[in-house]
Amino acid sequence: RTLAGLLRETVRRVGDREAVVFREQGVRWTWRQFSVEVDRLAAGLRALGLRPGDRLGIWSPNRVEWLVTQFATARIGIVLVNINPAYRLAELEYALQLSGCRAVIAAERLRTADYLAMLQTVKPKLPALEFVLRMGEGRTPGMLRYADVLLAPEAVDVAALDALEATLGCHDPINIQFTSGTTGHPKGATLTHHNIVNNAIAVAQAMRFGEADRLCIPVPLYHCFGMVLAVLACVASGAAMVFPGEVFDAGATLAAVSEERCTALHGVPTMFIAELDHPEFERFDLSCLRTGIMAGSPCPIETMKKVVARMSLREITIAYGMTETSPVSFQSSFDDPLERRVTTVGRVQPHVEAKVVDADGRTVPVGTPGELWTRGYLVMQGYWGDEARTREAIVEGGWMRTGDLATLDAEGYCNIVGRVKDMLIRGGENIYPREIEEFLFRHPKVQSVQVFGVPDRKYGEEVCAWIMLRLGERADVEEIQAFCRDQIAHYKIPRHIRFVTEMPMTITGKVQKFMMRRAMAEELA
Ligand code: ATP
Ligand code: MG
Repeated sequence: RTLAGLLRETVRRVGDREAVVFREQGVRWTWRQFSVEVDRLAAGLRALGLRPGDRLGIWSPNRVEWLVTQFATARIGIVLVNINPAYRLAELEYALQLSGCRAVIAAERLRTADYLAMLQTVKPKLPALEFVLRMGEGRTPGMLRYADVLLAPEAVDVAALDALEATLGCHDPINIQFTSGTTGHPKGATLTHHNIVNNAIAVAQAMRFGEADRLCIPVPLYHCFGMVLAVLACVASGAAMVFPGEVFDAGATLAAVSEERCTALHGVPTMFIAELDHPEFERFDLSCLRTGIMAGSPCPIETMKKVVARMSLREITIAYGMTETSPVSFQSSFDDPLERRVTTVGRVQPHVEAKVVDADGRTVPVGTPGELWTRGYLVMQGYWGDEARTREAIVEGGWMRTGDLATLDAEGYCNIVGRVKDMLIRGGENIYPREIEEFLFRHPKVQSVQVFGVPDRKYGEEVCAWIMLRLGERADVEEIQAFCRDQIAHYKIPRHIRFVTEMPMTITGKVQKFMMRRAMAEELA
């Protein structure tokens, strides 16, 4: 099935139910209204001369235009290129250049970042870029207005769009998604309809999603979490989508859940932590919640437990995956015992294979940590325009090397131990930062903690922890070290501890350890 086909079926089934709510923009549409907007843009893009296979970039925080663009491009076979809202000049130019975009649709700004000025700067260097469509009311020389490109509903030739859609294949690329950039430079994963539509269906089934559900979506649309696990899962099941705002805000998210009576909530762990810690948390009625997904980075056990108990997310699941695998390969289900549900990422998704291997690619015994490899319909076509990297990532037999360390138990439950790149070796001992993070997280004064290795003359590497304390708390290095003593092995106790007020983070809410490592290396040198 194609992306546009999925939407068409939902319109046929539940066309008059509420589909899309953008609270900040004041938009409320049914599925039928939404699909009319999609066709207006699809026809408008055709009128500009865009053809199947052309690439179109979308550069915007969570706005309704993003959603319309996602389905309008899919309707006419244009490859959508998700551009990270946090990008600035160099990265923007790189993404547009790499993907050879013929058109880009951009928001006016995000906070202090002037998107239109940046586009004006890079456009002369991008010969393939013919059209820039800007959102909002204003006019900018050399750019079209998004609203002006939309055809009037009565001018749309729906039959022509249907005929064009019928020629599209489900194995055609439909999307270039950039990875989060947690470990360095983001990579553009090329995904097909087949990849992401099937993943969304599997994820929706795991949450037992249906048309009575209403999903609150604070995660960014540009990322697979937003566009596949949220948007496509809703389209696959007829559930309504509720967007609290352009960018994440804990208070706005809690308000959206309680006022819109959402039954589901997605988020990366840092978002759930911020929601639980919100000063007015108790004021919000969250009893309407049932399910949702926590994913994107290691999900602390304590946070999972609190989310179940205090946010009424009885049926929350943890998902594990990566942009390159559409994204989800493992997901817990609420048939799993609670303990398993909060401590593992569940079992492998239907129609997906997984194995854990050593450095030579040989399968390791049950319970032994190694690199996780996955395979199946969900593996991307490759990194756009980067065959060398693609060959490194997807090895013989179609296995995707995830770059993550994992263990699989005898029943198939998977534990993500950390990233291969983050494991450190201190005097010959393998140390997995995640284990120390989980331990320090139990300290009552600790709000969040990140552990990583720093170079050390004597041991090769030493354990370093960055800690954010709860509001108003104070602590010193000795106190934290004393908390660890007799509880964890001496070599795992952080030698270097920094108390910080913020962590370097991607816009998807993931902590960038490579930035911390760099900062500490400079400091310790
Ligand atoms: P980049 O590849 O650019 O460095 P990234 O790997 O963070 O960034 P994504 O594709 O957004 O980009 O994220 C996938 C990664 O997120 C996985 O490889 C894994 O390390 C981590 N991850 C995702 N879900 C989970 C989870 N439930 N538990 C632990 N880690 C997770
Ligand atoms: Mg990655």
